[in-house]
Amino acid sequence: MGNTCYMNCVLQVKAFPSYYLCVILGYLQCLCNLPSFPVYFLNNAIVPRLNRSNPLGTGGQNCLIKFAPRFSGCEQHDAQEFLSFLLDGLHEDLNHPISCDRDSSDVSQGYSVAEDAQLAELSWSKHKARNNSIVVDFFQGQFRSTLQCQACRHCSSSFTPFMFLSLPVSFTRRTTLDDCLKEFTQREIVSGSNKWYCPKCEAHRDAWKQLVLWRLPPVLIVHLKRFKVDCNGNVSGKNEANVLFPLENLDLSLFSGDSMHSIKYSLSGVSMHRGTLVNGHYTSFCKSTVDGSWRYYDDTKVRTVTDAEIQTGDAYVLYYSAFTENLHRVAK
Ligand SMILES: [Zn+2]
Repeated sequence: MGNTCYMNCVLQVKAFPSYYLCVILGYLQCLCNLPSFPVYFLNNAIVPRLNRSNPLGTGGQNCLIKFAPRFSGCEQHDAQEFLSFLLDGLHEDLNHPISCDRDSSDVSQGYSVAEDAQLAELSWSKHKARNNSIVVDFFQGQFRSTLQCQACRHCSSSFTPFMFLSLPVSFTRRTTLDDCLKEFTQREIVSGSNKWYCPKCEAHRDAWKQLVLWRLPPVLIVHLKRFKVDCNGNVSGKNEANVLFPLENLDLSLFSGDSMHSIKYSLSGVSMHRGTLVNGHYTSFCKSTVDGSWRYYDDTKVRTVTDAEIQTGDAYVLYYSAFTENLHRVAK
């Protein structure tokens, strides 16, 4: 993809264990093959957008070196955490906040559920004022979380931004992405020590809680939560269920709040994990934005594959894009 020194810098960290090199290569392939996104990294187009004075960023230099100690050594980490770290770093380097107001107070006070659309807009504009980067524009969306008191039926909504749709995967041989989404957006009961403080009853009450998708990003990153983490944060197992996912026309309107436009997503990449966490290997499938064919990347080996080969039980992170080949966002 041309001059990609900014992204390639991650490959120059010699201290990285080889485990991370295949992780990084897999993710970079998927990011580099997304429609529209790589345009920003061609011919140093990114340079004028760098915010070198952001104390949370790296000044546009060696984006991973500053934080590399977290990922050095032999300790295994969840690779999705690594992708999150990669995009967070990129975001901070490209962030030009409009407001430095770090106030994250709940803006839901005074809004009724009927005014969800207004509340969502207000929350989003507050978030965007502090987080103004192409990473937010491309990858971030908004969840709506609703709590309803079981005693008086009072309802309250709040909106939170997300970059990953991290979905639970049930322990079965075969499941579908729709099943994962159903479980994710299922209404659950909060009770016991998690009781909700109902502002109407002015008391802690059992409540129903439900999460739905409200605002969808142009590029949706779906993380299949295959790794089981115990209470100490250690990974204790991997779920190898074959999750069936669509290559075209992923429609999330069933799992969304009322206001969402119907967006149809096409798959543009898959990061795969094979084996156990201790003894695993990362590869990827990426769809070429040039000729629309699928390619399989395994370290330095690349080969063309058929659509039928994309569906695999190794799928770990899915990249869905709402862009079509003809619709390229123009760099502002
Ligand atoms: Zn109540």
